[in-house]
Amino acid sequence: MIYLDYAATTPILPEVTRAMSEAQSNFFGNASALHTPGHLSLNEIEACRELLAKCIGADPEEIVFTSGSTESNNTIMRVFDGCQIETSEMEHHSIIETANICKGNKLPKLYSYMLANNETGDILDLARIVSQASKIKCDASSDLFKMKDRFRRDLVTDRRGAYVHSDLTQVLGKIPFNVKQLGLDYATFSAHKIGGPVGVGAFYVKKGVPFKPFMIGGNQESGRRGGTYNTVGIIGFREALRCSVNTRNFKKYDTLVRSLRDTLAKRILSEIPGSSLNTDLTKGKSLPNILNVSFKAAEGESIQLYLDNEGIIVSTGSACAAGDTRPSHVLMAKTGDAEVAHSSIRFSFGLGNTMGDVEAVMRVLPGIVKRLQGLSTIV
Ligand code: PMP
Repeated sequence: MIYLDYAATTPILPEVTRAMSEAQSNFFGNASALHTPGHLSLNEIEACRELLAKCIGADPEEIVFTSGSTESNNTIMRVFDGCQIETSEMEHHSIIETANICKGNKLPKLYSYMLANNETGDILDLARIVSQASKIKCDASSDLFKMKDRFRRDLVTDRRGAYVHSDLTQVLGKIPFNVKQLGLDYATFSAHKIGGPVGVGAFYVKKGVPFKPFMIGGNQESGRRGGTYNTVGIIGFREALRCSVNTRNFKKYDTLVRSLRDTLAKRILSEIPGSSLNTDLTKGKSLPNILNVSFKAAEGESIQLYLDNEGIIVSTGSACAAGDTRPSHVLMAKTGDAEVAHSSIRFSFGLGNTMGDVEAVMRVLPGIVKRLQGLSTIV
């Protein structure tokens, strides 16, 4: 099998499997318990918190563990229930749909903009959003500022008119960043995009900004997220961070993964008539691992199925929207063209790929597209 769907989820790293399997027997104690097995588990969790904080440029107290990015996104959006919320049209559904439920007209306002898109890899101009947010002022008597964080027992100390959240799920481990330098108040992460297990993630919440828990029913995470700690999962997350979020990895991404992606793009454009790129390959304009391509008069889903038959795994966009027959909302927002959106394929690479994988794709893809174009009524 040739796996080119790393943006949907990554194969679990062998180091992660090993660490989790050892943790099953060594760190089974409930991390909230006061006994020794509980303390041992909590120490492991705190080590992961410190590492994630270091990787993203935050303080450990600003990290809260969750079940993944969907929960993290839901949590942050719900803090601003009834407030003005602005998002890009290209956000993940867990942002767009929660924003639709929570949106109101009160201040303060929440801006939620991803730094890089999961379907096209495009990097967006977050600095512009942060600067726009800084211009909004609001009366410090807002209800959200009066809200006492019932577990941290403090009031919101950072009373601004607008705050910025960024879903950094696709960015972690691909390019270096620092949440403080980006000017973010909240950010979202998931372990399974960096070689860790599914079902573990985290969010960053800056000290002093508005917050209220979404998962209530326990004092875990200083009351910011109730629920028994997923110690084994968090240990897997830590190992994945250790392996994936470091300078060596970023360099490999920038040389190996980028060259695989760019070579495939170049060959598709020169060997497949009617192909066009939906990803801007210019350095700094997209993540190095994602390539989104449209093939005129060939349906993306059919291409995906034919490739699957050949043992090549790609996707037509976000796996979370699979089964939805509407064209990708991301490509519709970017191109405004339903045909381009319907005929798109996302190739997403990882460190497990080689130039041989690109060769294998190019052995079969031109024939598949030609066959489908021959069947199409669109010319
Ligand atoms: N946001 C983005 C940008 C994503 O790519 C994904 C996963 N497709 C999610 C959120 C959801 O993450 P999780 O699977 O951890 O809930």
